[in-house]
Amino acid sequence: MKVLVSDSLHEAGIALLKDVADVEVATGLSNDELIKKIKDKDALLVRSATKVTSEVIKAAEKLKVIGRAGVGVDNIDLNAATKRGIVIVNSPTASSITVAEHTMGLMLSLARNIPFADSSIKSKKWEKKQFLGVELRGKTLGIIGIGRIGLEVSKKAKAFDMNVISYDPYISEKAIKKLGVEVSDFGSLLAKSDFITLHIPLTDETKHIINDEAISKMKKGVCIINCARGGVVDEAALLRGLESGKVGAAALDVFEVEPPFENPLLGHPRFLATPHLGASTEEAQRYASVIACEEVIKVLKNEPPKYAVNMPVFSQEVLDEVRDYLPLVENIGRFAVQLLDERITDVSITYCGKILELKDLSILTNALLKGLLTPILTEGVTLLNAPIVAKNREIGVTEGKREDSEKFQNMIVLNIKTDANGLEVKGSLLGEEARIVSVDGYGVDLVPRGNILLVKHEDRPGMIGKIATSLGEHDINIGAMQVGRKKVGGMQLMVLTVDSKISKEALAGIAKIGGIEKGSTVEL
Ligand code: NAD
Repeated sequence: MKVLVSDSLHEAGIALLKDVADVEVATGLSNDELIKKIKDKDALLVRSATKVTSEVIKAAEKLKVIGRAGVGVDNIDLNAATKRGIVIVNSPTASSITVAEHTMGLMLSLARNIPFADSSIKSKKWEKKQFLGVELRGKTLGIIGIGRIGLEVSKKAKAFDMNVISYDPYISEKAIKKLGVEVSDFGSLLAKSDFITLHIPLTDETKHIINDEAISKMKKGVCIINCARGGVVDEAALLRGLESGKVGAAALDVFEVEPPFENPLLGHPRFLATPHLGASTEEAQRYASVIACEEVIKVLKNEPPKYAVNMPVFSQEVLDEVRDYLPLVENIGRFAVQLLDERITDVSITYCGKILELKDLSILTNALLKGLLTPILTEGVTLLNAPIVAKNREIGVTEGKREDSEKFQNMIVLNIKTDANGLEVKGSLLGEEARIVSVDGYGVDLVPRGNILLVKHEDRPGMIGKIATSLGEHDINIGAMQVGRKKVGGMQLMVLTVDSKISKEALAGIAKIGGIEKGSTVEL
């Protein structure tokens, strides 16, 4: 077997490859050189520099697997690789401990004024009193987002005898408690924490999650640390917090604009910055290389990889059979999760009607779970690992079958139980067109695509006009509209497909209209 390593990878991984294959290391290749070299290779290992274009994939006559040492796969043409049956594997867990240790480093630095004291002494001052610190012991650490990195931070903070509380609305209370961490809502976390650290992806929902309003609810003197993504903290609000003294000190490893040379935060004496160093350790690079190479070796030996990004490990026959259903089920999951405000505890998927003729429904369940989990996790939920990710989050998953598919030829029913209520979404494939056909018992006929607004409101005259006017005030054009109701004079579900993104302000405007129970937005 022949393997090409086209970016500089840590030696430890390459050594593993050399035990099973002929390995050629050639970095800095031009596109043409890469095309020539890839021809007879069974595997390719990259970091982020090599661009694996469709042209490269086309030339790769024997290629079975591409290993990415790291997380993001923006440099690889996923579609082209998937079509050719090439498996892509990566190493999403490689830097979790490294980032968690960096977080602890920043936390200790703020608690004991280490960088500020360092600058002071180097400018020939001896300011012992000014740098009186605090212990971490007994302090409350609020972790926002308890995924891979948040979990590692919680372990380390507990070793420092901190009280650890966490806010993560997408992981079951049972799973958080199992970690020995107290579950908190967002408001209580802000109010109780002496230190707050963020470990969440940057999404519409998390953008500026730490803003003026959030800071106003925090304890005076709170320390804020962000090693996640620039943008989850509103930097202007953070500066205002530091200037007013509400925020005692803050440390950012990530910024909205990098490098942040023009950022006024850099001039604040209680502000500590590192240049996106969270994942920069020798070990993280070694793990990234070792994990990616181990995964590549598994694929070369026909064993199932743990961190596959795409899906060609399912047989072509199975894929061909389910191909039309995949976007439908994934979108049912993506649609449903955006309507929920509560923690998911159980998911049940029932396949009805003609769909039961398919040989293997498990891939559809995986695709639905992928849709359900992707909007809330940083990266790496795939068709292969989605059930494991759900299990790790203590989400129970059951699959059912039913002959009766109501008035459709085929139907998929997703029932989600949450710690408060739940949600039911039904979907069907009408010809080749995916449709959502029911939401919580309200019949709809919705193409799951684009920007969608769902409004549950009283069934009385004038509601449609008021909602349309409110959207118009925010310059939002309605493309399609429909209403579903269970009985006259009860509640109605209005579903609108609109031409632009629905802002938080526009949604708040709708919520103010009398007779509205709830408005939710979905982006697909
Ligand atoms: P992860 O996907 O394992 O965990 C993210 C967690 O955030 C999940 O548990 C999810 O449920 C939770 N979450 C999502 N939306 C939320 C919300 N609105 N409120 C609260 N919780 C929410 O990700 P991870 O590997 O732990 O990475 C965490 C962050 O660290 C990511 O943003 C990642 O890009 C970043 N990161 C930074 C560096 C660095 O160099 N500084 C390196 C690696 C990762």
